[in-house]
Amino acid sequence: MAATNIQEFVDSNRTKNIDELIALVKQKSISSSGEGMQETVEKVSALLEDIQAKTQVIQTAGHPIVFGEIKGQQEFTVLLYGHYDVMAPDPVDAWVSPPFEPNVRDGRLYGRGVGDNKGQLMAQLLGIKAYLEIHKQLPFHVKFVFEGEEEQGSANLGSFVEQHKDDLLKSDLAISIDGSCHESGAPVLRLGVRGMLYVELEAVSASQDNHSGNTGNIIKNPAWKLVELLSQMQGNDGKVAIKDFYKGVQAPNEQEKAILHQIPYDSETLAAKIGLPNLTLSQEEYFTKLMYEPTLNISGINSGYVDAGAKTVIPSKALLKLDMRLVGKQNPDEIYQNIEKMIEPIEGVSVIKMVSTPPSSTNIDSIFVKPVLAALEQGFGTDPILEPVMPGTLPNYVWTDILNVPVLIVPYANFDQANHAPNENLKLVNFESGIKSTYHIISEISKIIEGGVKQNEYVKGSSI
Ligand SMILES: [Zn+2]
Repeated sequence: MAATNIQEFVDSNRTKNIDELIALVKQKSISSSGEGMQETVEKVSALLEDIQAKTQVIQTAGHPIVFGEIKGQQEFTVLLYGHYDVMAPDPVDAWVSPPFEPNVRDGRLYGRGVGDNKGQLMAQLLGIKAYLEIHKQLPFHVKFVFEGEEEQGSANLGSFVEQHKDDLLKSDLAISIDGSCHESGAPVLRLGVRGMLYVELEAVSASQDNHSGNTGNIIKNPAWKLVELLSQMQGNDGKVAIKDFYKGVQAPNEQEKAILHQIPYDSETLAAKIGLPNLTLSQEEYFTKLMYEPTLNISGINSGYVDAGAKTVIPSKALLKLDMRLVGKQNPDEIYQNIEKMIEPIEGVSVIKMVSTPPSSTNIDSIFVKPVLAALEQGFGTDPILEPVMPGTLPNYVWTDILNVPVLIVPYANFDQANHAPNENLKLVNFESGIKSTYHIISEISKIIEGGVKQNEYVKGSSI
């Protein structure tokens, strides 16, 4: 018999829903090696077809994208995003149960990809399935984009969105269902992500290592070239001195500051977690630094002799890797060009761009924030936390800057899901809370759509 409410759907389909997730996790889909990708594409397509979604597999230069669409009563369209690929499972020996033989222990399902992202992907599908079973029809259109390269940096997602933004993908709101809930167990709604520019620099002098006496003052040490460059890149005040680096950086406004004060903050626990003796930052400073300020980080530097004892040498080359987390409207390509200009006059120094992902933001005033918070509260049965910006990097600019819609990040997995690590797991209670949350997201958004949202209130522009 068809369920009449979401709790009934979850209760009466418990075993069936978990079995479906187990079957999906069993199917390998390792994007780095390509193992099982085609079989998983077929499986995910079949799951979409099961809920009456018009489904197609779209080839990209890498692994395909599985796209689905279910028409609803109104033109308004929500795009749900997830990924079907998983990380390689090694070291396999460190798993208590084999990574592709899903196993339930203590209320958690263990297996590679169960949290990141197959359990969350399945929770989206089952939430929509529940809505259809209970209400027969969706209140608006829902589109699904499940990609197969997230674990490899979503290399082809941007060009896919660019190519299909005016037809297949045309939407009013994107929701990315990936990541972890807060440490406390509370669900989280994230509105933005920091971007990333990653560069690798190499300095060379002579074609070989040389004696530091016999050639001292004759050969310029390449490590000095990089050290001098670094000192030009950041002043003693800690401010980055790359030209126009701060263009597009915006301090939080009063409303955003107020939100920062609502995020749980315990400086002692945080200090212990990151291995510092103490953290003297105030709550507002801490979150402002993580969410509204960019970084220039030396990820690695390597040159010369650093093993035991003394060795006098002028190394032939020096290497440097820098990562920059970007915020607001900073443009990684412009920053990269300015780095290129900085190194131009220095002989023997070259740079290459490894990663360039713009930051992405969704305004805190977006009309979708309240309904989605309400949905999470109902789905998880506890107050959600609103995070204006996620300190890490995701390619969310494809939705905000290419598709031109606001994006909300709504993670369902438990904080300790151990994704990318051995013994990845998803708490079954999170799986069910995810199913319920998806159902409530549709239901809560439908209320504001019915309330008569004018086109320009939700489409385009910075007010979303
Ligand atoms: Zn991942």
